[in-house]
Amino acid sequence: MPLHLEVITPERKVYEDDVDMVVAPATDGYVGILPHHAPLFTTLGPGEFKVKRGGIEEVLAVFGGFMDVRADRVVVLTDAAEHAEEIDATRAQEARDRAQQVLAAGPASAADEQRARAELQRALVRLRVSESRRRRR
Ligand code: ATP
Repeated sequence: MPLHLEVITPERKVYEDDVDMVVAPATDGYVGILPHHAPLFTTLGPGEFKVKRGGIEEVLAVFGGFMDVRADRVVVLTDAAEHAEEIDATRAQEARDRAQQVLAAGPASAADEQRARAELQRALVRLRVSESRRRRR
């Protein structure tokens, strides 16, 4: 029996299908979920969310939120999630460069520094996910 995966953001359902395995970026490290996994509730960090289905691996970028695993149902509620082909790599490069400039110039406050670090992390996840798609072609 496969896993039923749903990835939902406040705006839309990004993914819904029966899949063979997922590897999720939990806040304390990547966790792999196969069918018959024990119930699990965890927070997610920004990272690569891998989905294996019929021998094909797809990678989504996800940014925070929660994952609930119960009875072969995996529900991910996240602030934002993108398929690799939806990612605008130029926009992510620009976001990365902006954040790096703020960090290099010395941010004006701890809050600015935290914001720039979070933006940098999001941009790097997007670039990795976008890159993983190009590698597979
Ligand atoms: P930027 O600084 O480029 O706006 P951001 O990290 O501040 O990026 P988020 O707050 O994470 O953006 O996301 C805002 C919305 O924009 C979300 O719906 C997200 O899916 C979308 N988004 C952000 N960056 C990209 C990108 N490079 N390609 C495609 N969609 C993106």
